[in-house]
Order: sequence, then C-alpha cells, then structure tokens
Amino acid sequence: MCEKLTKGQREALGRHDVEVIERAGRGLVVRESCGRCGGTGIYTWPTRRGPASGRCFKCGGNPHTYIDADTYARRLRAGELREEKRRRAAETRRAEIARREAEEAPAKAEAARVAAEKEAARLASLNWIDGDEGDRVEMDLQIIGRGDDLFIWSGETDYGTSCLYKFKTRQGDLVVLFTSASPFYSADPVEHSSGDYSHEVTQPGGWVRCKFTIKAFEDREGEKQTKIQRVKFIALAE
Ligand SMILES: [Zn+2]
Repeated sequence: MCEKLTKGQREALGRHDVEVIERAGRGLVVRESCGRCGGTGIYTWPTRRGPASGRCFKCGGNPHTYIDADTYARRLRAGELREEKRRRAAETRRAEIARREAEEAPAKAEAARVAAEKEAARLASLNWIDGDEGDRVEMDLQIIGRGDDLFIWSGETDYGTSCLYKFKTRQGDLVVLFTSASPFYSADPVEHSSGDYSHEVTQPGGWVRCKFTIKAFEDREGEKQTKIQRVKFIALAE
C-alpha cells in the first residue's frame, strides 16, 4: 500500500486489496484493471493451432481506469456503511422478533394452562348416567354427529356396516352406541327445520327421545362415557 495515503484512506482501501499508484499531475489514484483481459489489453483465446490473441474488445486496449484515491476510499466507506446499516437493521429485526416471542411466551403458557384446566374441569364434570348395567332407560339424547352424519364413525364389521354414535345427555354427560341397526333413519324422507329432506330423523345436534339398555360404564383416559345398546327411537325432542 502506498506510503502517501492518509490513515483513513489506508484503512478503507487496505480492506479491499486495490492497487494505489502515484500518477504525474493526478496524485494518488486507484488503478482498476479490465476484468476481461486482466489489465493487459490483450485477450487470448484457444484455437486448434494454438492460442491466438488480439486487442481486448471490452476495454479497447485501455485496460486501466484511474480513480482518485480519495474518491475511491469515500466510495468504499459509503459501501461499507450501507453494508453496516443493513447488518444492524437485520440484527434489530432479529432482536425484535426474539423480544416479541419472549413477551408472548407467558401468555402462551397461560393459554395452555387455562386450556388444560378447562379440559380437566370438563373431565371432572362428566358422570355416568344413573342406573345399572342391564337397566332399560328412557331419556333425551342429543346426537353429536360429524359433519352431516349422525354417526361419528362407520365401518364394516361381522354384522355388516356398523356405526358409532356419540350423544350428550341433558346434564352434558357422554353416551356412546356402537350398532349395526339404524335407529335414527326413516324409510320416508323427513323434512328438517333447516328445510332439507333426508332419511335421518334429525340432523347432528338434534335431540331425540330414546329407550335403551345400559351396556357398560367406560372410562377413556379420564373421559367417562356410558355405553348403551338396543336403542329405540321414540320421538324428536326439543
Ligand atoms: Zn480489457
């Protein structure tokens, strides 16, 4: 690096490995060389008879550009400043994201805790329906269903197509029925309150008065449900 450069110029230029020379009448300049010919002004290319060469078309044989060292150093410093600004902005953005995440973490943990508490309360509130296994019971049940279907699962079994139904009692307790019978279907289409017709006696969410036999009292991971069988649909309920 040229001895006559100022400390600031040396710092800026030194980082970029540029050639600084002293030119008569211009003082210190940075010499940039043509990238195509590497500063020779001559371009060489291979041919079958060996390498051929000619004047570089990019620089027209004037392969060097001279820029005042001070101007060059200023440009480099400006470029470095832009780069530094970009880097700082990115750092600020990252810090902001981290800060927001840290800020939201307690709220998220609290929401999870509330949800877990709510689920625990729901499970604790569930009871089996009154009675013993084998009892014949008459009760209103709300069909939970899934989408447009009254059942929540259906599949082929040894008895043909079987469906799993889930109900809620007036107390909010869970009742389940697994059957190959069709207790909630009518041969004639039924008009529903929504204006739709279907062979189902009601739609998901509808209440039905039923007679059934208590089959078992089950506990599925803390969720109490009463299993029923031999269901007879009596009437729609409000
Ligand atoms: Zn060139």
